[in-house]
Amino acid sequence: MTRPMLLCCLLTALSALPFPAPAQAPGHWQALHAGTRVAGLESRVFRAEYWWQLTLPGLTAERGFAVEQIGHSAQGRPLRHVQWGNGPTHVLLWSQMHGDESTATMALADLLAWLGDAPDDPRVQQLRQQLTLHVVPILNPDGAAVFSRRNAQGIDINRDAAALATPEARALKALRDRVQPAFGFNLHDQRPGYRAGNSELPTAIALLAPPFNQARDSNPVRERAIGVAAHISATLRPELEGRLARWDDSFNPRAFGDLMQQWGTSTVLLEAGGIEGDAQKQQLRQYTWVAIVAGLQAIADGSHASADPASYHQLPENGVVWPDLLISGATVHGDVSEPVQADVVVNFRHPLSFEQGRIADIGDLSSQPARRRINARGLHLHALDGARLAIDGKAQLLLSRDAAGQEPVWHLDGDLLEPDPGAQP
Ligand SMILES: [Zn+2]
Repeated sequence: MTRPMLLCCLLTALSALPFPAPAQAPGHWQALHAGTRVAGLESRVFRAEYWWQLTLPGLTAERGFAVEQIGHSAQGRPLRHVQWGNGPTHVLLWSQMHGDESTATMALADLLAWLGDAPDDPRVQQLRQQLTLHVVPILNPDGAAVFSRRNAQGIDINRDAAALATPEARALKALRDRVQPAFGFNLHDQRPGYRAGNSELPTAIALLAPPFNQARDSNPVRERAIGVAAHISATLRPELEGRLARWDDSFNPRAFGDLMQQWGTSTVLLEAGGIEGDAQKQQLRQYTWVAIVAGLQAIADGSHASADPASYHQLPENGVVWPDLLISGATVHGDVSEPVQADVVVNFRHPLSFEQGRIADIGDLSSQPARRRINARGLHLHALDGARLAIDGKAQLLLSRDAAGQEPVWHLDGDLLEPDPGAQP
């Protein structure tokens, strides 16, 4: 069948989503960020080569930057370290060690642009005098090239902090050992399905001061990280009340955040989650920028030491993960001849834009909450265009009024989600 007006239908569908987008980030940051937002990063999918093409021309010595290559990826892409500032406190920030987690990489482009563009801004002056920043954007450029989590060897770099089997992990560890940063920012994205605590709200930003041992003890290194995270949390809360969470703090002896803490670098993990309707994570890019700048300020002026740790400890943990789409109650025409009444769950590779779906579950899922639900009772669910309707299969689905699939009311071709059948005239 043909694809009717997919994009406009998608926008209609998004505007009908249950959670309204919150207001913009705190006012005094908002205008500032708008002025430093690097153009050309409106899509969250981009290659490292493209990102450097946008940013490298501005990373000159005259503007206060030094750029060096610190290694190369498994496929030979350069890994670069951008240094800025003259201060005594060294801070290491790295992003996109998971290739499909690009939100902070966009925010780092904006941060570097601001530092270079506004050398006389008192806030920039304070950062320059107190801090020396070491920024490693896109630690996993091979993963970014195919927008997937792992590196080209198939290894999760954030489970390689001890083994150091990947060239990317070795480059980051070598830089840490050389620079001995007092503070670190470990910048990631998490699934938009995560709820904040027991609530039904999606987590927009999750923070963690990772533990350095199995007992999750405290020590001055971790307490400093908690102070920075508490300051970030207090800064974001007015805009993201109920949408902030804490990442699970069980110790992982292979993860970089945990081992950085163990090695003596006070490290904050930041995970950009989801805001419904923010398909390219542009609002989250701004919140991530605000979080990083607020954290750096708290380090530069020492206020992290007096931040109320309750702002961190009282954050709810990330709760359950809601699947992306639940089609409930349809008569499902699967591979076997006998149709069955069942619910079907679809998860998407790009959850916020509902692109590239796969069937995750089939069965009685009536008690399962989901980010988006379609009540298909009385309708028939078929595979589209001779595709298979099976677990892990591409979600190429057709909802029809009749058993033969001749009266379609909705379809999902694996890439884009049509409006609910109930929303159609
Ligand atoms: Zn990650």
